[in-house]
Amino acid sequence: MARDTVKSFCIRNKVYVDSRDDVCKYCGKPLVQKEKRKRKLFCSNECRLDWWHEHPERLSRKATYSFVCAGCGKPFTAYGNDHRKYCTHQCYIRDRFGG
Ligand SMILES: [Zn+2]
Ligand SMILES: [Zn+2]
Repeated sequence: MARDTVKSFCIRNKVYVDSRDDVCKYCGKPLVQKEKRKRKLFCSNECRLDWWHEHPERLSRKATYSFVCAGCGKPFTAYGNDHRKYCTHQCYIRDRFGG
């Protein structure tokens, strides 16, 4: 009876450990995730910066950003540029200079 209790505790514990993937992507330290917060990937800023430093290809890979044009109001996407405001240069000119 007592042995069964210990055994089931171990199984529960093992499942808990196995299913927990919340470890620092860089050093593997367990992470404490705060509820209702964005899931953390790194235990510290240093680990995050070191990881990015060792994976520069992840940074240079062009990402697609979605915007709504400030000129015509249409949704559009841009590659590798998260500061776009207008879908086209014409929209920029029209909005900026009222042409
Ligand atoms: Zn870490
Ligand atoms: Zn536009």
